[in-house]
Amino acid sequence: MGAGISGLACAVHLARRGVAVYLYEAAAQAGGRCRSYHDARLDCVIDNGNHMLLAANRAALAYVAEIGAAATLTGSPRACFGFVDLRSGLRWSIAPNAGPVPWWILAPRRRIPGTRVRSYLAALRLARADAQATVADCLARDDPAWERFWEPLTVAVLNTAPEEASARLLWRVVRETFLRGAGACRPLIARDGLGATFVDPALALLRRHGARIVFNRRLRALAFAEGRVVGLDFGSEQVPVGGTDRVVLAVPPNVATTLVPGLEAPRDARTIVNGHVRLPAPPPPSAGMRPDFPVLGLIGGTAQWLFLRGAVASLTVSAADAVADLPNDEIAARLWHDTAAALELPPTPCPPMRIIKERRATFAQTPAALARRVAARTAWDNLFLAGDWTDTGYPATIESAVRSGRTAAALVTKRSPIANEL
Ligand SMILES: Cc1cc2nc3c(=O)[nH]c(=O)nc-3n(C[C@H](O)[C@H](O)[C@H](O)COP(=O)(O)OP(=O)(O)OC[C@H]3O[C@@H](n4cnc5c(N)ncnc54)[C@H](O)[C@@H]3O)c2cc1C
Repeated sequence: MGAGISGLACAVHLARRGVAVYLYEAAAQAGGRCRSYHDARLDCVIDNGNHMLLAANRAALAYVAEIGAAATLTGSPRACFGFVDLRSGLRWSIAPNAGPVPWWILAPRRRIPGTRVRSYLAALRLARADAQATVADCLARDDPAWERFWEPLTVAVLNTAPEEASARLLWRVVRETFLRGAGACRPLIARDGLGATFVDPALALLRRHGARIVFNRRLRALAFAEGRVVGLDFGSEQVPVGGTDRVVLAVPPNVATTLVPGLEAPRDARTIVNGHVRLPAPPPPSAGMRPDFPVLGLIGGTAQWLFLRGAVASLTVSAADAVADLPNDEIAARLWHDTAAALELPPTPCPPMRIIKERRATFAQTPAALARRVAARTAWDNLFLAGDWTDTGYPATIESAVRSGRTAAALVTKRSPIANEL
């Protein structure tokens, strides 16, 4: 149930192993929070929001390879992230070195301007953080690394402000990326959009394997008897669940809790806002947009990331609940201000911009919410849960969604969870 990335990953894994798969999706298209569509205003295909993977996301990359879409992922040839401070115009790059010892922080020219070695060693306080600690509990806000590294990193990977984000979860990310060196930090994006990399090839593979995919079919209720799911209620249609059938719920947490009695799950969500705009002119070379990886981190504005695809710039504002409450015109004006400053373009006029507000982009990754993540196995024999919000140990990302889907698939086929295989 649910054709987001977790449901697709689960379905693909099962279908390739000869399991007969029925995939039911409430929306008219697959992809869930990771989707593309044709936008009439911009007259091109855009994503609901910018998505980035890192080479450390092994399950996500394995999924993309499994569906035959590896060639559609494009990455920076090396681990290098360009940044600009929109207020001062100062530009710099973060480029971790190869290998697990981060000696790049010892070289003043490789460090973020204004930071010292101890700005990075502060990460060790994240390593020692208890389950209740937030990122802000562990790190000093008066260090320049706060504004130029820790805050943008937290918001980018946890979609939660550092004042409430889990220190432990951020530490896991640091450990699996920066502390594994450049090879793990190499950023990757979907060259032709999210649909072409994560969704359409999965649907094609499923169809080749005889899976039945039904859109516009919202699961309204589950019928239970004798410790099992025995029926699916789609409102207009009731589907019996046979003795050998298994049900995987790969729906968001706020939906899962309405379908599964007594289910505890993370409650609060955080917003991501994206603005997509067709540029009136190409940015000058001085704007430092690398042709091989046209992504820029923004400091001191409203947005945190700018992706450039052809002539369309897409800006991301994470942990954006307050921004999302503003009228679209005002959001567009702010995001165009950021775009013009980052790409050295005229600040007026503001071209037409598509604003997409994802109010439930991820769950709020606070210590309290992490304690509410649940296992894939449920109290019912033939019912399993998947979704980026389940207890994968990873932030609510594509990586977590894929892992959850494959764990559920492994339970369906009664094999050991995939987490151990990767
Ligand atoms: C704007 C934005 C930017 C992001 N950026 C990144 C990033 O840079 N890197 C990264 O790794 N991750 C990123 N993410 C997170 C990533 O998109 C999600 O973690 C992932 O897509 C979640 O997949 P899922 O399958 O767990 O959930 P969902 O995508 O929510 O899928 C659930 C599916 O279930 C369907 N459904 C709901 N109710 C029912 C029902 N009753 N019956 C049937 N179907 C139902 C929904 O329509 C949906 O298709 C971002 C998310 C957003 C929104």
